[in-house]
Amino acid sequence: MTKSGVVVIGLGRFGGQVAESLTELGHEVLGIDENAEIVQKLSDVLTHVVQADSTDEEALRQIGVTEFNRAVVGIGTDIEASVLTVLALTELGVGEIWAKAISAKHGRILERVGARHVVFPESDMGVRVAHLVTGQLLDFIELDDGYAIAKVCPPDELIGRTLTQLGLRTRHGVTVVAVKRAGKEAETALPDTVIERGDTLIVSGPTKKVEQFGERP
Ligand code: ADP
Repeated sequence: MTKSGVVVIGLGRFGGQVAESLTELGHEVLGIDENAEIVQKLSDVLTHVVQADSTDEEALRQIGVTEFNRAVVGIGTDIEASVLTVLALTELGVGEIWAKAISAKHGRILERVGARHVVFPESDMGVRVAHLVTGQLLDFIELDDGYAIAKVCPPDELIGRTLTQLGLRTRHGVTVVAVKRAGKEAETALPDTVIERGDTLIVSGPTKKVEQFGERP
């Protein structure tokens, strides 16, 4: 194991997917879960999978977790186990800890015990789906508080004009980052890019502006 590997603890739906994706991306992964069935199921998929209680700092040390600088904690439902696991990783000197939280309070505690990155997969996906079902947005991601990127069909009035002519940044406060023609890959938007019928736009800007742009009739 090298410092470039990642420890993934709690191989449920979230952690299991993180571990599989990291493996596909070519990273060395040490997976840990207390559930023997899950460990068995993932033993063909991941390079190293160990059954252990991750709240036990000594057990983690013996497995070799101190060899790693990065860890992802995917335990969510059992908040106590999630917090104690992050604490154990902190005590063992793992620098980059990513942890899943199921509520804002849970997230705050995880930060206090040493998680450098806290993610909220369920509430983030909830926000995303809310945007997709209510507006004309085809996809939506809030990258940071108050700043978003979205995929949107251009309203008819934009068709046949260049981005310079449209002046969307001045008129609507959004920037067109890329344009995807039907059946082709997305291309970086240029000032003389003409919007055509059937195009999909990737736009970014303050969340409110992106939402308003998506709600246009
Ligand atoms: P998800 O919703 O992503 O499936 P869960 O919180 O339900 O997340 O599952 C997390 C995983 O973490 C489960 O596979 C469970 O066996 C594992 N887990 C929970 N507590 C511990 C622990 N103390 N040590 C190791 N693994 C744990």
